[in-house]
This record gives sequence, C-alpha cells and structure tokens, in this order.
Amino acid sequence: MDHSATTPADPLVVEAMLPYFSEKFGNPSSLYTIGRQARRAIEESRQKVADLIGAKKEEIIFTGSGTESDNLAIKGIAYRNRKKGDHIITSSIEHHAVLHSCKYLETQGFKVTYIPVDKDGLVNPKDVEKAITPGTILITIMHANNEIGTVQPLEEIGKIAKEKNIPLHTDSVQTTGKIPVNVDTLGVSLLSMSAHKIYGPKGVGALYLRKGTFVEPQLHGGGHERNLRSSTENVPGIVGFGKACELAKERLPEEAKLADLRDRLIKGILEIKDSYLNGHPVKRLPNNANVRFSYIEGESMILNLDMKGVAASTGSACSSTSLEPSHVLMAIGLKPEEAHGSLRLTIGRGNTQEDVDYVVSVLPEIVNKLRMISPLAR
Ligand SMILES: *Cc1c(COP(=O)(O)O)cnc(C)c1O
Repeated sequence: MDHSATTPADPLVVEAMLPYFSEKFGNPSSLYTIGRQARRAIEESRQKVADLIGAKKEEIIFTGSGTESDNLAIKGIAYRNRKKGDHIITSSIEHHAVLHSCKYLETQGFKVTYIPVDKDGLVNPKDVEKAITPGTILITIMHANNEIGTVQPLEEIGKIAKEKNIPLHTDSVQTTGKIPVNVDTLGVSLLSMSAHKIYGPKGVGALYLRKGTFVEPQLHGGGHERNLRSSTENVPGIVGFGKACELAKERLPEEAKLADLRDRLIKGILEIKDSYLNGHPVKRLPNNANVRFSYIEGESMILNLDMKGVAASTGSACSSTSLEPSHVLMAIGLKPEEAHGSLRLTIGRGNTQEDVDYVVSVLPEIVNKLRMISPLAR
C-alpha cells in the first residue's frame, strides 16, 4: 500500500529489458551492429515516452531519475536565463527535488517565491499571476502532490504562463500513468517523469523539453541526449521505461478504476473515531489515501502495520529518516502533532478489494492500542 514510494517493475518491462544487459549490450554511440541496435532501442523508447504525454519524440531527454529531471529543468532554465531575470515561482508543497533545487538557487543569487496552498493543498492560480515580476524566468508547480495526492489546476496556471511568456515546468512524476497527462492541454514547457513510479525500473527518468525552450546542461561530457545530458545511456533502463509508458497508456482506464478502491479505503478508515482526510476530497490522485488520527505517531503506526504485513508511509519516503514534520502537511495548516499522526496509503495495480478490506480491518485495533499508550490522548 505504498505505490507512491515505488512500484514493482512489470514482468513485461523486465522481459523487454533483459536482452539489453548481455546479448544486446552495445554502446549506443558505437557504429557497429550491436551499437546501432541499442541506439534504435533508445529511439523507440523515446517515442513511447513521448506518446504517453502527447509530446514529440525529439522533445524527450532521458535522465537518471525524476530528481535529476527536476534539477535539470530548474537549474537549467535558471542558468540559461540569468541575463533575462533572476526570479522563480514555485509552491510550498513541492517534492524536495524541486524545493531543494530552488533553495540552492537562492544561495546562487536567484529569488524564489513559494506560493502557499489552501487547506486541501490547492495552489490558487491567481496567486501565481500576482507573484509574476518582469524578472520571472520560470514557474514550477507540481501536477499532483506525492503525499496528499492533490491535483493542481495546472491548465489555468499554464494559460497564465503562456500569456506572460514564462516557461512552466511541472513535476509530473505522480501523474504520468495515473491520470491523463498532455503537455499541450497543460500548457507546460518542461515536465519531469520517473520510471519506477509507473512499474518501470529505478534509476531512469525523462525531461520533456518543448521545442524552442532551452536549458543549460548540468552534466558535461560526451554530448549525449542532444548535448543536454552527457552519460552513456542506461539502455536497459530506457527500454524498460519505454515499455512501462506503453503499458501505462494502455492501462490508464484501469488506473482510474483504482479510485473506487481508494474511496472504499478512505470510507472504511474514517469510521475510526477522531480521524480525518488530508488533501482534497475530489481533486486527488486515484490511488492516494492520506488520513490522520489524533493523539498518535505515524511512525508507530507504520511499524504496527508492517507487523500485519502492510507497507505504508507517513509523509513521503524521503522524509522517513527525519523527524521533522512533513513540509506538505505543515503547508496545509496542520499542527506538528497532526502531521506526525498522518498515514499515507497508496494503492496500485497489484492491490485487490481484499487488501483494502484487510487494512480497514486491522487499523482500528492498531489505532486503539497506540492511543492507549499515547501521552497526547485525553
Ligand atoms: C518520486 C518522486 C520524485 C523523484 O523521482 P526519483 O526518480 O525517485 O528521483 C520527484 N517528484 C515526485 C512528485 C515524486 O513522487
């Protein structure tokens, strides 16, 4: 129940990747047969990735992760446009890959506006419009949040960005393959994706870069990926990513149906006394349930659920090693103790109604047990 942290590679993805480790191991830059074979496989994958988001093949740059795509988009636009301006607009609930890239740029002399969100986690497009200055060179707002699942009104922000002629980047790692994503409908110039969140392998991502939008490369070397991301290509990874995108496109209707399981899960959990939903009730990812329970610690809930064979998460996987309350939950106005009492359950292709009912059946007992020993409980 933690598919927003990562997903298992689909067996068809693994099957597609395997030949590229050994038999077809050529370097795509080599001119002989197995090199050309690898090159062809990369270009076929590029087309499949492009097809999932309504882009052109030439607009896809393969990277090493969703994190790298975010870094390349944000630092790449910032350094490329330094002479034009120094101002970036983002939101307060971005993934750390975006937030920390922006924080870093602040140390380099750039200015960043962090747009707040409402109690459901929504960015108001009007706030984005108001934040624009003559020096604004980039707007970066995530498509859907990885913790609370809230889906942003990105089309509206896209219209504003287009009107003001400012490139819009979106971290789409949680939406590609889950809900329809089309770069033209959204009005984005840059979009980040990651393979391992959509039943592909870890360690491969992509950045969509609209024709006519330019970024400064962050890795210099042999000039791979149109000089924008030097590194010998991760051929098996890229092939797996392509296959994952092809499958994601076919299976989009199935993914939408997860919303029924999600609603069953939320409804079941909210039967527990003093429990609340985090995130928007409707504008949310079809697989995300994020709930909070008064008087208890998310960490102890995770360990107790683990003992019952359920994998879940508190804030995001990235914050599992820190005791700081999640910046996302704080941004929607929760108190630190409320943030700490939150639980994220994210369902996926492998989950059944039985799984959901099982979680709903074991959770009350765990919550009760933890409340009995909680110093916060009355
Ligand atoms: C997982 C995730 C990332 C990071 O992707 P990696 O490929 O794991 O580096 C970025 N943004 C969001 C919203 C994510 O959920």
